[in-house]
Amino acid sequence: MCAKNGVIQSVGENVAMTTTMSRTKPDVAVQHFDVLIAGAGISGIGAAHHLAEQLPDKSFVLLESKDTFGGTWRTHHYPGTRSDSDLYTFGYRFKPWVGPPIATAEKILKYLQEVVDDDQLEQHIRYHHTIKKASWSSNDQLWTLEVLRTSDDEVLHFTCNFLWMCQGYFRHEKGFTPNWDGFEKYRGTVIHPQTWPDDVSLAGKNVVVIGSGATAATLIPNIADECAHVTMLQRSPTFFYIRDNVNELADLLREVDTPEEWVHEIVRRRIIFEFSAITDLALAFPELAREELLKPIREMLGPDFDVDKHFNPSYRPWQQRIAMVPEGDFFKAVQNGKASVVTDEIVSFSETGIQLKSGETLEADVVITATGFELSIFGDIPFLVDDEPYDFAKSVTYRGMMFTGLPNLVQIFGYFRASWTLRVDIIGDFVCRLLNHMDELSAHSVVPALRDEDQGMALRPWVDPEEFNPSYLKRAVHLMPRQGNHEPWIHPHSYIVEKEELPRADLDDGSLIYK
Ligand SMILES: Cc1cc2nc3c(=O)[nH]c(=O)nc-3n(C[C@H](O)[C@H](O)[C@H](O)COP(=O)(O)OP(=O)(O)OC[C@H]3O[C@@H](n4cnc5c(N)ncnc54)[C@H](O)[C@@H]3O)c2cc1C
Repeated sequence: MCAKNGVIQSVGENVAMTTTMSRTKPDVAVQHFDVLIAGAGISGIGAAHHLAEQLPDKSFVLLESKDTFGGTWRTHHYPGTRSDSDLYTFGYRFKPWVGPPIATAEKILKYLQEVVDDDQLEQHIRYHHTIKKASWSSNDQLWTLEVLRTSDDEVLHFTCNFLWMCQGYFRHEKGFTPNWDGFEKYRGTVIHPQTWPDDVSLAGKNVVVIGSGATAATLIPNIADECAHVTMLQRSPTFFYIRDNVNELADLLREVDTPEEWVHEIVRRRIIFEFSAITDLALAFPELAREELLKPIREMLGPDFDVDKHFNPSYRPWQQRIAMVPEGDFFKAVQNGKASVVTDEIVSFSETGIQLKSGETLEADVVITATGFELSIFGDIPFLVDDEPYDFAKSVTYRGMMFTGLPNLVQIFGYFRASWTLRVDIIGDFVCRLLNHMDELSAHSVVPALRDEDQGMALRPWVDPEEFNPSYLKRAVHLMPRQGNHEPWIHPHSYIVEKEELPRADLDDGSLIYK
């Protein structure tokens, strides 16, 4: 594919690209690429790998707001930040993982650094580049992006034939904090884990962590020894999955000198198989799955601890993500009295602590609000198609990655119930196949459109709340694209389904219009 507006010259500002003159602003140099990747987190780096490997002739660039790559794993640096799924599947298909299955942010960033180095991706990434607006022109068959270079506040313009959105799902600048009554009165220190200060000391402090999810369960054992005491205050419980941080199959294969590529692939397949079986079991026999998850917690905390009150959620297993607790470290902190759990509702804050619905008060020197994310839909970027604002909430998704009426754009939104990254590799293959197909057809654009047989199809939310309903999604799912009731308009949210469907997806079934 090539830009339709006049290509003036090739410029090599580290990357293969062309510089064109914009039609609307003749004095402004516009940098043009075949593919523009938004975001240099684990999705963007994976997308770049697949492009570089499968379509080496395409020019591409990654635009990233931050001053470095890694996304989630840079933003979150609270004590103990780690994955909550195993790295054999959270790692890429193409790059063996050689450490313990649950990894710290630091180890994940080291792994990503190796991928960036192996593929020489650094030359393709522009840091401090925040995309502010994306406009599609059907006349030019091009995307034009307005970009703020935050290092010098310069507004730049990029054009691309294809836009690959890898912007993640939450707002990086700040996390979500509920509007508690009297919160402004509280005189102690307040910290949101997403914006953890580098210089805070919790030594000897009475700390309350508000929240029940993976962040709270990770943070607590990592600060418990330093604090005088840490209390987890939750409105309702969450499911946790206790496991040793080892993979016996990987260790066994290594003992017999198996090459790391094989270890990675074999262990990955085994984990995918096991997790799919566990998910199926949880869906078919939720009460059995519930007891299996609670059993080791009951064993660790003993008969006097009210496990049902504090760790037995009202929802079914897998209606929300289940966080792995390696070595049960969170439960050990509760067991040895360094941490405690209170399941109650906040009525209001006082200057020194929190008043609860039960009548109890919790005094706190420090309150840590592990209360989650603010969902960011498509990086909060306004999209325009031929000067008209594009409304994602009115669109129907093609296979959970493209959207009706939005040409030449794919988004990577990973799995909730399996490792996010499993989807990066299979969407990577799909995008490369689609771009090749467009070249074969000499097409400049591709856009999903409902066919005659799809008209009037029943529409459902991006994710069915009966199946998966964490708070951050409930707050914003009405703003997200919808899905239909038959292929290719279904978003199955399942690696097991998509790993079969995506490579076979018929690109000429009439649901993709090429021009
Ligand atoms: C603490 C924590 C632990 C997690 N553990 C797991 C786990 O174990 N397994 C799992 O599957 N998932 C996990 N997740 C979910 C995790 O966020 C994803 O799996 C994954 O890291 C998302 O990667 P991403 O590249 O898609 O998005 P991000 O990591 O969010 O990266 C997106 C990048 O895009 C950039 N960007 C966004 N908007 C713009 C814009 N307008 N212009 C330019 N750049 C932009 C951002 O700066 C960012 O660098 C975890 C999340 C957290 C917070």
